[in-house]
Amino acid sequence: MNESEKKCSTCGGKAAGYKCDSCGVEAAEHDEKHSCGGNHCVAKCANCNQAETKCAC
Ligand SMILES: [Zn+2]
Ligand SMILES: [Zn+2]
Ligand SMILES: [Zn+2]
Repeated sequence: MNESEKKCSTCGGKAAGYKCDSCGVEAAEHDEKHSCGGNHCVAKCANCNQAETKCAC
């Protein structure tokens, strides 16, 4: 595991864990079996604490 690889794909900043872009639940690790679908469990932007797909930084 390489923590430094986690980053927000929208702004390129650091990511702090993962967050669902649909229901907003947070997870320490990517949850492929998340109820909304594993593809909704995306990196959480450390700057705005939003899922990277909702990042507005
Ligand atoms: Zn971001
Ligand atoms: Zn969800
Ligand atoms: Zn952001």
